[in-house]
Order: sequence, then C-alpha cells, then structure tokens
Amino acid sequence: MKTSAPFPLPNIAKPLLQWFRARARSLPWRDCPLPYYVWVSEIMLQQTRVAAVMPYFSRFVAALPDVASLAAADDDALMKLWEGLGYYSRARNLKKAAKLVMEKYGGAIPGDFDELLSLPGIGRYTAGAIASIAYGERVPAVDGNVLRVVARLTASRDDILRDTTKRAVEAALAAAMPKEAGQFNQAMMELGALVCLPRAAHCEECPLAALCRAHAEGLEAELPVKTAKKARRVEPRTVLLIERDGKFAIAKRPKRGLLAELWEFPNLPGEKSRAEILALCKSAGLFAKSAHRMKAARHIFTHIEWQLSGWHIRLADTPEAVGEKRARCGSSPLPPLTWATHEELSDIYSIPAAFHAYLPTTP
Ligand code: SF4
Repeated sequence: MKTSAPFPLPNIAKPLLQWFRARARSLPWRDCPLPYYVWVSEIMLQQTRVAAVMPYFSRFVAALPDVASLAAADDDALMKLWEGLGYYSRARNLKKAAKLVMEKYGGAIPGDFDELLSLPGIGRYTAGAIASIAYGERVPAVDGNVLRVVARLTASRDDILRDTTKRAVEAALAAAMPKEAGQFNQAMMELGALVCLPRAAHCEECPLAALCRAHAEGLEAELPVKTAKKARRVEPRTVLLIERDGKFAIAKRPKRGLLAELWEFPNLPGEKSRAEILALCKSAGLFAKSAHRMKAARHIFTHIEWQLSGWHIRLADTPEAVGEKRARCGSSPLPPLTWATHEELSDIYSIPAAFHAYLPTTP
C-alpha cells in the first residue's frame, strides 16, 4: 500500500489566526461555544451547508436546550426537528449519544478526544472539533475543507480520500497547532469554506498566499487529488398521494436501510402507468375516484438517485378498514397506512425531503 508523504506545514498559525479574528463569520454555535452547541452544530454541518443549518440549529436548541432534553426527546418530535436536513441517522445517533452522556458522564459532554470518539455518530473530525473548540484541547479537526487547504499549502498529490493521507494531515496540523487550538481549527475550516474553495482558490484574498506552494507553483486548480467517486445508481419510483376526506395516506418505512423508520407517502419501484396504479389501488382495497399525474421530481442520496413520478389519487369511499385489513393479512401491495391531515403532516409527522415535491398544498 502506498503511504502518504508527510505534510510539513509552514508557520501558518499567526497569519491564519489574525485573518480569522478579523473575518470570522458570526455563527450561533461559534459566538456561544457551549459543548452541546458545538456538538449539535457539527453533526448538523456534516454534509450540509452553514446557511441551511442555521434555522435548524436555532429551532433544535430552542426545543431541546441541553443533553438531558435531547436524551428524553420523543422520536417523532426529534425527526420533525430534523425534517429536511437529510441523513436522519445523524439525529438518531445524537439521541443515542445523549443517553450515553447522561448515563456515563452525568450529562456533561466529555472533553477528551478518545472519550468523544466512543460516542455514537462522533468520528475523528467531530471529536477533534468538540475537544478543541469547546474545551481547548490541542487536537486537529480535519474535514474536507481542511484537507483541501493542506493539500494546496503543501502542493501534495496524495489522494485526500485515503485514510493514510488524513492521518498524515492530522499529524502535520498537530505539529503546527498553537495554544488557541479551537480558533486554529475553525480558521482552517473557514479558510476552506470562504477563500480556498474547491473550484476556485481566491489566493489574492488568502492570508497564507505567501506560504502556499500550490500558489507559488500555479497548481491551485489541480489540487487536491481525489479518487473518482462511483457513479450513483438511478432508481425510478412512483409516489402515491392518496387522499380521502381531506386526509392523506402515509406509511412508516422499515426499521433498516434508507430513511429508516421515517414516514413516507406510499411509493413503488419503477414508473407506473395510470392503469397500473388503479389496479394496485383496487388490489389494496382502495377505490379510486380519480388519478391525476403529478410533477416529476428527483432526489439525490449519496449512492442513489431517485427519479420520481407521482399520482394524486382521490378515493371514492372509506376504504381505510378494508385496506388496512388486507395489509394485516399480508395480501395488500401497500404497507399499513396511517391517515394524516394537512396540519398533522405539517406539525407531527416528519416527511423526508425526498418526498417534499408531493406534499399536498394547504387548502
Ligand atoms: S494561497 Fe490559494 S491555494 Fe493556497 S491556501 Fe490560499 S487560497 Fe488556497
């Protein structure tokens, strides 16, 4: 196996910290770096932009202001707070970790990197971020932004997706770490988020330009090196918005797999025709009065792309009992259905963003 070359870093701490103090964005979890706030924000920021996280963060900490309230949160209420952020296992792991923090640490989030690492949903980056930002521990926090900045600073051609490269970058940052560890880590991330961007390095604004090898050698656009990702699998699906007396059918997804245990509108693999949909409703004991095609949509997960078509089906009578009875007997092509009003869809049930294109409009 190829090993990464070390990444000796130039003396970046002073200009980086000066720049950060002058330019850092004001963010709620940055302005008030309580361990709980840093933890929740870092979990939300995984795979999600700062602007998208801001309203979620404020709502989340208003509803669940500390570890104890998170550990005791109702699952549906927790999912509702997370609705639209995606990657719902993050919210489940937050609650699992909160319970462990209550049991093992009396509700105080640990400040030690290794103890943090032992909690569900906390990897090396998040452990480093919490330990350094909330507790001042001198440990690095290496995310994609930081990997890119370091690869460019050192003109490294090592693949930044390899674990060996990440560990080498951690070691280099640990060696360059000043006593203001939390600020240093945040400054590296901020530089990657605002200046040293993936597609355009704004070297003219960069406090490290005079120290940067990629800039000196004109390699900004070529670095970092990343292995090509596998292409996403494309899956057509048909979503059914089934309406009866102003209520809409929803179902709970299985306990395991994609969007586990979240609510969804009934949906099927493939793109179905009106005739197929009507036949399916009939065999589920649902008697359709009308079926109108809805707009197409798509949703992208990490490894899968759903190409969605939709049908709005209005039912003729009160089929609930028939449909559910058949589902219980195992003869229905649809899972057991729950019927929700507009208000319940908005206030109680968490419908993942993948289905938002099919949410009924408010009457
Ligand atoms: S000088 Fe340019 S390439 Fe180097 S770290 Fe700064 S923005 Fe990135």
